[in-house]
Amino acid sequence: MSRGILLVLLASVGLCGQQVRVVVSPSAGDRPTVKPSVQFAAETGRADASVTFGAGVRHPPMNGFGTRAMAFESPAGGTAVAVMNSRKRPASVALSYTGKSVRVSMPAISIARLLWGEPGAAAPSMPKVIVARWPGERQAAISLTFDDGIDTHLDIAGPILKKHGLAGTFFVNTDRGAWQHRLDAWKRLAADGNEIANHTVHHPCLLPAITPHSQDFTPAMMERDILDSARDIEEKIGAGRGLTFAYPCGNLTFGPLADQARNTLLFFKYVAERSFAARGYGAGGAAQDPDEMSVLNVTDLGVTEGKSFSELLEMAQPALRAGLWGVYGFHGVGGDWLSVSADSFDELTAYLARHPEIWTATFGDGVRYIQERKALGMEVARTGSGAIEIGLKWPLDQRIFDLPLTLRIEVPAAGATARADGSAVAVQAAEGGKALLVDVTPGMVKLVIDTTAR
Ligand SMILES: [Zn+2]
Repeated sequence: MSRGILLVLLASVGLCGQQVRVVVSPSAGDRPTVKPSVQFAAETGRADASVTFGAGVRHPPMNGFGTRAMAFESPAGGTAVAVMNSRKRPASVALSYTGKSVRVSMPAISIARLLWGEPGAAAPSMPKVIVARWPGERQAAISLTFDDGIDTHLDIAGPILKKHGLAGTFFVNTDRGAWQHRLDAWKRLAADGNEIANHTVHHPCLLPAITPHSQDFTPAMMERDILDSARDIEEKIGAGRGLTFAYPCGNLTFGPLADQARNTLLFFKYVAERSFAARGYGAGGAAQDPDEMSVLNVTDLGVTEGKSFSELLEMAQPALRAGLWGVYGFHGVGGDWLSVSADSFDELTAYLARHPEIWTATFGDGVRYIQERKALGMEVARTGSGAIEIGLKWPLDQRIFDLPLTLRIEVPAAGATARADGSAVAVQAAEGGKALLVDVTPGMVKLVIDTTAR
């Protein structure tokens, strides 16, 4: 018990309505290489409770979870304590008294960490490894996106972004003059790291004030409008990393009213066939929680038209405070329509550049990081020499999802080195040297962290 409590499971289906707290901790003095034991204390508040281990009530020795899973009757005072000597993993902990029982499943990974993962122990241990929510363990993420592919994007927004060393996402309509006649300028914008993305050919929209009205669109017309612009962008700019999409006017449907429910489904289908993610518009304005993201309808922060720098910054505060993703949706900058002033935008961009703890990324990169982080498979092991070996699996299409992820590895940073598939990679200390950050690139198969080199 000297190493402290590692895991507390709350079994909310407690006995007789009581909550049962199962406290699991390794016993003092054990070495994973010898015969680790784990102590389970079930704080039931009842003197007649008992604790058993394993998949069932009976536990034949050497069956599934090693030697002598022992059930202990609770001593007076209401805490049932049991010690299990095992190198294997129990499937569950069962608590019972007076004929009632409740089973608490122990995730295998938690048990593995208990048995082998205690940091700071003399014996080799398995560190906790997670993917940081944002690259470099930054605090939050911001994306600057621009709709309609208009001149002020090329003449004002692009140069301001470049001045501050940032990049944005430009959703273009390919029938517009600025796209038709200024292709070289769009190519330069892309070459500066900006994302050129799809906003359809004609900007069909349900608003009667905007033509073409998408009420008049058939499914075939809408599909054509999305596909043709995607092809045009791919041909002229290149889209090796895939395209993202923004819904014109934020509308998620089209056609006559009677067809609009069915057409929402078709709209998503056409978008999904040519995009790996899509942004909504004006849906009330909210920070996007990466764990709750709907990839075909990522929320934006709301209307930016006419806002001052401080008003724009205020829109992002919920995202910045909560470590979420704030996606700005702009139209004109210093002109054109639904505009913000060039000064407001310049100040906002300067602020973001001064705050490297905020990850300012294109919309596509925001989605890439979020999706890769969810998809990454990791298997942590120890080598014979005590190094930490992390097997990596990247299930997403690496032509599109090509962004490095930051791993946070909870081992002391001092003297640690890292190699990925045989080549040295940089390590960075985090949390005052208590943890390591290492960037891993899609396709890497094995990361080895050596903490013994001094
Ligand atoms: Zn638009």
